[in-house]
Amino acid sequence: MKVVIIGASYAGVAAALEVRKQHKDAEVILLEKQPTLGYIPNGLHLYWNDQIRSLDEAYFITEKQLKVQQIHFQLNTTVKKIHSVLKEVIYDQNGIEEKLTYDKLIIATGSSQLSQKIIGSDSEQVVRYKRHEEAEAALATIKASKRVAIIGGGQVGIEAADLLSRQQKQVTLIESMNYVLFKYFDEEMIQPVQRKMNEQGVDLRLNETVSAIQSEAEQSAVIQLGTDSITSDTVLLSVNVRPDLHFLDEHIQLHMDQTIAVDEYMRTSAKDVFAIGDCIQLTFGEDSEMAYIPLVNNAVRTGIVAASNIERANIPFKGSLRTIGTFVFGYYIASTGITEAESLFTSQTVKSVRQEVRLNSLSNSETVMIKWIYDESSRVLLGAQLVSKTDILEKINILALAIQTKQTLEDLQQKDFFFHPAYTSLLSTTNLSTWLHEEEDEDEI
Ligand SMILES: Cc1cc2nc3c(=O)[nH]c(=O)nc-3n(C[C@H](O)[C@H](O)[C@H](O)COP(=O)(O)OP(=O)(O)OC[C@H]3O[C@@H](n4cnc5c(N)ncnc54)[C@H](O)[C@@H]3O)c2cc1C
Repeated sequence: MKVVIIGASYAGVAAALEVRKQHKDAEVILLEKQPTLGYIPNGLHLYWNDQIRSLDEAYFITEKQLKVQQIHFQLNTTVKKIHSVLKEVIYDQNGIEEKLTYDKLIIATGSSQLSQKIIGSDSEQVVRYKRHEEAEAALATIKASKRVAIIGGGQVGIEAADLLSRQQKQVTLIESMNYVLFKYFDEEMIQPVQRKMNEQGVDLRLNETVSAIQSEAEQSAVIQLGTDSITSDTVLLSVNVRPDLHFLDEHIQLHMDQTIAVDEYMRTSAKDVFAIGDCIQLTFGEDSEMAYIPLVNNAVRTGIVAASNIERANIPFKGSLRTIGTFVFGYYIASTGITEAESLFTSQTVKSVRQEVRLNSLSNSETVMIKWIYDESSRVLLGAQLVSKTDILEKINILALAIQTKQTLEDLQQKDFFFHPAYTSLLSTTNLSTWLHEEEDEDEI
């Protein structure tokens, strides 16, 4: 069996490793348009945070590790066309057009930081840094800049705002919603982070939509926001990522948002063609709504699922809970499942409660603010958000598992846990859910 995988990042590499594990005799070929493979998209953040010494260290896998697994790869190879009936892939390698046949094809071409809505988003002063070469260029540009405007208050934008304001850059962050990180948190949970952003000197522009970016003389750019405008040396584009799938043929169906339509086994509408990672939508939440959730854990898991189904439909994808965790502006923040704000759009009657919990039994114990979101009648957990000055990030994975396995608040209280006074309170943090004040609490924390 000859398995061709287009794109050698998280999804493509995970699929290649799993195909190799399950099919010892398969020929596995990764095609990658970049000159390297396995770059970590937030390598620049690791560098700015002094966690790596050079962007060359921001790789999650080496070519040697793939070679040991007898996974072949071709770099500088850009796929230009797929003929899903002829089972052929046409690609360009160093300016020469070549053809490759396949028995099974996996599309793992991911996404890029693009914006079709913002005029001038490809201007000279606009930087993005998902790929290694982009990151090297962005690093040099930002180093030479005093003023940096960041468009988009998602995880990437907030992390960048924190790291750059700590380097004494004049940072402006523009977000079209009325608070940052709205996909993952309810407004009141994120207030401590926003307050710290202001204290750290970030000029936070909420409810503002960028319409255009215009290059100006002396290496600056003017960002147009409705009737107002901001001048900056560099503009960092951290808006939603989008897939670029112009190379597909007409047999591979797309959704309205131009992601590839797949079934629960990651099969596309074309025979023997699979799609994974940032180029597809996934099921999200109790109602199994389809949503675009471009995260590494989804890329890796869909890669494994596609590989497991490569010969026959075997293992369905279990859905995404959009679980994230990071450290920004002095707070560890994490989220999984639905937020209270988006629960208004579901068919469920949802209740939510916030609870401040001590992390150990000592008198100077740090605390974590937890928001529980659950179904009112069944009391099954649907979402959780954590905000703390202490590293509580791993706890979100327990809550994600609780949601995935449909645990009720009462089940959570019965969860077996270790006790040690230096590390736990009288109950473990994620067991405390039934000692809640049941009234809804709208106050800010
Ligand atoms: C700055 C930044 C930071 C992020 N941080 C996090 C994080 O902390 N946690 C998290 O969960 N997610 C994070 N993400 C999201 C995460 O990067 C993506 O979800 C993940 O990379 C998706 O993996 P993928 O393999 O599907 O696609 P991608 O990583 O986008 O990779 C696709 C690959 O396909 C190649 N390719 C594309 N088109 C072609 C073609 N025509 N021919 C050949 N090759 C092609 C590309 O060069 C690329 O290597 C971040 C994203 C950005 C932009």
